[in-house]
Amino acid sequence: MVFEYLTDDLHRLGEDRSTSLLTKSAGETVIQAGEQGKYMFVIQSGEADIINDGVILDQVGPGGVVGEMAMVDGSLRSATVQASTDLTLLPVSKPDFEILIRHHPQFGIHVMKIMSLRMRLMNARLGDAMEDISASRAMEQELRTLASRDPLTGTANRLHFANMAAREIEQARRHARELSVAMLDVDHFKAVNDNHGHACGDAALRQVVEATTGELRIADVLGRVGGEEFAILLPETGLEPAAAIAERIREVISEQTFAWDGQTFELTVSIGVSIWDTDENTIEEALTRADKNLYAAKENGRNNVVSIEE
Ligand code: GH3
Ligand code: MG
Ligand code: MG
Repeated sequence: MVFEYLTDDLHRLGEDRSTSLLTKSAGETVIQAGEQGKYMFVIQSGEADIINDGVILDQVGPGGVVGEMAMVDGSLRSATVQASTDLTLLPVSKPDFEILIRHHPQFGIHVMKIMSLRMRLMNARLGDAMEDISASRAMEQELRTLASRDPLTGTANRLHFANMAAREIEQARRHARELSVAMLDVDHFKAVNDNHGHACGDAALRQVVEATTGELRIADVLGRVGGEEFAILLPETGLEPAAAIAERIREVISEQTFAWDGQTFELTVSIGVSIWDTDENTIEEALTRADKNLYAAKENGRNNVVSIEE
């Protein structure tokens, strides 16, 4: 008999106390999670599983205690306990427990140790669950990035650019601020593919994006709207400053050297700039004007910026 002093004491306490041993066969449920129950059970012989949310949280044998939480605080059972072998149990009610720990403080310590261990196990499980949640959040974030980015250059794709433009128009309206746009197209890009191959063209596009991004501010949005064509949103920027930014981008790219397979070459871009009109509900009109200016820049001999407003 485990904790013989307990059984002796309980017997001494009188007949109205539930001091007789309880038996359960292997597979039987001792405690059902969510139910009311005022007894804790001290396992005399056999083994039991403590099951939380379908997972075995702990396994207990002789001297082990189950059901102590609901017995102590009167709340519903927090876990299910199932006999994994035939079991003999000593039921202990709260009033009995109080008498027992007065007579045998070491029994109180024993139960406290078991409770602490279980709390730690529960916390560890909660921690695992939180990790799972943050992993799936990271995955969700990644999917969102995949859905909004152009895979080759990492810039915003068409859809994301349109969403950002809608947001910027709203901001510009609310705060009565200017909003400019630019359309950028790589000059004679077909020749890059023809002379050095498609992979070289891809690398060159990435380099153009990197150089362009280097001239933009955090709030600016660069989007790939065609093969070698990009749109730029410039919040809080008037037409003249926008043209100056475009000119810097043009200059920086024209000064770069592109290298591929031991060969080097140069690239230029043409840029058309325009400003959003406060009457316009979408960015499309401004982009169309910027595109017209881009066409004019090409007509002017390429490698230049046009920002005429009619
Ligand atoms: P222009 O100065 O008039 O803009 O001449 P261009 O050669 O740049 O213009 P065109 O529209 O004739 O050719 C664009 C080329 O860009 C053709 C297409 O194969 C190439 N291109 C489009 N997207 C990609 C891409 O993702 N990777 C590579 N390597 N090439 C691309
Ligand atoms: Mg081009
Ligand atoms: Mg083009």
